[in-house]
Amino acid sequence: MKLKTIEKLCCPFDKHDLTLQVLVKDTTENIIEGILNCTHCQRKYPIVYGVPIMAPDEYRQIPLEQPILERWKLEYGISDLKLLP
Ligand SMILES: [Zn+2]
Repeated sequence: MKLKTIEKLCCPFDKHDLTLQVLVKDTTENIIEGILNCTHCQRKYPIVYGVPIMAPDEYRQIPLEQPILERWKLEYGISDLKLLP
């Protein structure tokens, strides 16, 4: 997903702004892998294969999302693995 598009997203929980941690991008500034962090509630939303995984809490698939962060911990050294506050 393009950086410009990602900048328009907000937290589905509280509508606050998100900060973006870019892990992988291509040569056209497409974000391939990254983490969106809510500045207010500290929820994290992974970007996987260019798609932000953003759903309200009741629809989130934490058992599916968590292994992605575990992999990124090994590959990119991210340290905070908590998806929900
Ligand atoms: Zn939030």
